[in-house]
Amino acid sequence: MSGWRGLAAIAVPVAVPAAILLIARFLGLQAATLPPADAALAMHAPVLVLTVSALLAAAFQRGRVFFALVTLAIAWFAYRTYLGRGLIGFPARAVFVSLCIFVPVNLAALALLRERGILNLHGLLRAAVIALECGAAAWLVASGNRETVDWLYQPLTSLPPSGLMSGSRIPQIGLLLMMAGVATAIVLWWRSRSAIDLAFAGATLGWAIAAHGLPQREWHLAYISAAALILAVAVLQDAYRMAFRDELTGLPARRALNEHLARLGRRYVIAVLDIDHFKKFNDTHGHDAGDQVLKMVAARIARVRGGGHAYRFGGEEFVVVFSGATAAQAIAHLDALRMDVASHGLMLRATERTPAQGHARPRKPRASPASQTGGKKLSVTISIGVAERNDKLATPAAVLTAADKALYRAKRAGRNRVSR
Ligand code: GH3
Ligand code: MG
Ligand code: MG
Repeated sequence: MSGWRGLAAIAVPVAVPAAILLIARFLGLQAATLPPADAALAMHAPVLVLTVSALLAAAFQRGRVFFALVTLAIAWFAYRTYLGRGLIGFPARAVFVSLCIFVPVNLAALALLRERGILNLHGLLRAAVIALECGAAAWLVASGNRETVDWLYQPLTSLPPSGLMSGSRIPQIGLLLMMAGVATAIVLWWRSRSAIDLAFAGATLGWAIAAHGLPQREWHLAYISAAALILAVAVLQDAYRMAFRDELTGLPARRALNEHLARLGRRYVIAVLDIDHFKKFNDTHGHDAGDQVLKMVAARIARVRGGGHAYRFGGEEFVVVFSGATAAQAIAHLDALRMDVASHGLMLRATERTPAQGHARPRKPRASPASQTGGKKLSVTISIGVAERNDKLATPAAVLTAADKALYRAKRAGRNRVSR
């Protein structure tokens, strides 16, 4: 079960950019077979996609995506202006090598930078860097400096091009930057699981495929549209996640619970879970340690068995919904969960040694799972109230209220237990 969930957590997000790239390939090939007048029109599709995507990024205040789209728009414009007739002549060669370097560098830099919005000093600085790059490329074109351009095109290795890369005009330095950019964004995504980080990998790959086919195969411009679309979709995915996920614990939040409650059938069980004496924990060990407890408990609740779906209800309260289950079935899994939390506990280190100074210095308390040794182990327990839908409790709201009352009974009976 958890193996499948793990696989889905990777496969589903990756499927989005992959599907967009495949559609771009299909539509691009279609466009290549159009009569010349229609084909010329199709080549303008990136303008529409880039504009709509940039407006979306602006509306959602996503500066990293916005400036990535600006970069792609400049690449499209430079292509139309200088490369429409192929990689012939010095200006075309100078522009193409500039694009092969600056586009992946910008995408990787924006992937690494923090989100800072658009209309502020950070945005101005980012725009200034892009303008400087345009200036550098323009200077290269105007200078007629063949030596520099030839130097940029020279292979870094003498390896013959592989089958995949044969026919590509991308200079090896550009190829290296594109691969590094994709790898960087994938590592960032692996750590953050943010759709936008993954989109930077997809957009860089899209640009790499575009550059691989250009300038000869003009239909590869479709991959610029794909890169823009990947970024735009990620903005929406990210907004959706923000609306439905709790930031601290990563669990679905109350809004998601409400939607789940609205689509329940006739047989379900709702459990309300509450951390015992949490206020005391906060007061004694600080809010940061309290947050660590919340994360630890949430991670355990998320792994509840029996098909239960976990939500953060608010504060230190959680809800688990079992659809198609009886109370007896749900209680067995909830009691296993309760024992799991109670046996886990939390390690708290009140002081930490700072190597530079060599003496112990009081620091903010830091909590970590009890599996790490050293320090004081604190016990954390939860109480659980359970209620099942029946003729008297016919609505999710009524079942939830009943579960809340059952929770109160669990607290009164001494905590660290399941009541119904
Ligand atoms: P009981 O066993 O009866 O549930 O006692 P309790 O102290 O857990 O219950 P109470 O409802 O009085 O306290 C809940 C506390 O949870 C109050 C608040 O300080 C704390 N809390 C709520 N949300 C957060 C949060 O996001 N982070 C942290 N650190 N504390 C939170
Ligand atoms: Mg509470
Ligand atoms: Mg509590």
